[in-house]
This record gives sequence, C-alpha cells and structure tokens, in this order.
Amino acid sequence: MSECIFCRIARGEIPSKKVYEDEEIFAFHDINPIAPVHFMIVPKLHIASLMEADMSHQMLLGRMLAKTNDLARSQGLTEGFRTIINTGRIGHQEVYHLHIHILGGPEPLGSMLKRKTP
Ligand code: AMP
Ligand code: ZN
Repeated sequence: MSECIFCRIARGEIPSKKVYEDEEIFAFHDINPIAPVHFMIVPKLHIASLMEADMSHQMLLGRMLAKTNDLARSQGLTEGFRTIINTGRIGHQEVYHLHIHILGGPEPLGSMLKRKTP
C-alpha cells in the first residue's frame, strides 16, 4: 500500500473534504486554498506526475479532464474556472501524486503568471 498522501486521501485513510469519487478518480478541496473555490482531482492510481504519464493513461487522464465541467459546476463555478497541473521541480510540484487543481470564485482570477519585466 502506498504511503503517498494523496493515495491515502483517495483511500479514505486521511480525512478530506470530498467533492466526488468514482472507481477511478477522487476529488477533494485543497487544505490551503488560493481561491474562493479550490479543489483537486486525482487518479486513484498512483502516478507521480505528468512526467510519469504516457499513452497507457490516456483514458484515465481524459476522464479527469472530462469531469472538470461537472465538478466545477457542482461547486458553483458556472462562469469559468482555471485548471492547473504543476509538474516536477520547474513546475513547482509539491505533492508527487498527479493532480489537477480547479480554481475559481465570483471574481475573475487575474492573469496566470506574472510577466517578468526585461
Ligand atoms: P502542488 O504544488 O501542485 O503539488 O499542490 C499540492 C497541493 O496539495 C497544495 O495546494 C496543498 O495545499 C495541497 N495539500 C497538501 N496536503 C493536503 C491535504 N492533506 N488535503 C488537501 N490538500 C492538501
Ligand atoms: Zn499516490
């Protein structure tokens, strides 16, 4: 059994504010939200990051993305939302179990990254 924190959350061993669950995916609110609505979708299968994903995962990855609309609406995000997948050291990934962040709220979120001035 994996000791990975998101594997343990998906198995219900660590409590979370669950948004959704089916046989292949689990969604829960981020413990440290950076937007009024901030939750994550994870696969129940442990995939460390997009750098470990390949074509054998295409159905699972498609399922996660295809579910964002439904889940975002269930959390009141009817006018849009942002999806983020941080990957590896450069992507500033903190938890090495692949996850899609879904962010939104009543106001526009602002631009994605601050443009560096030359
Ligand atoms: P990332 O930087 O993309 O790897 O994001 C990891 C996210 O997981 C962060 O936004 C954390 O706030 C969140 N997080 C870490 N531990 C927990 C937990 N036990 N329950 C919910 N969210 C968590
Ligand atoms: Zn895991």
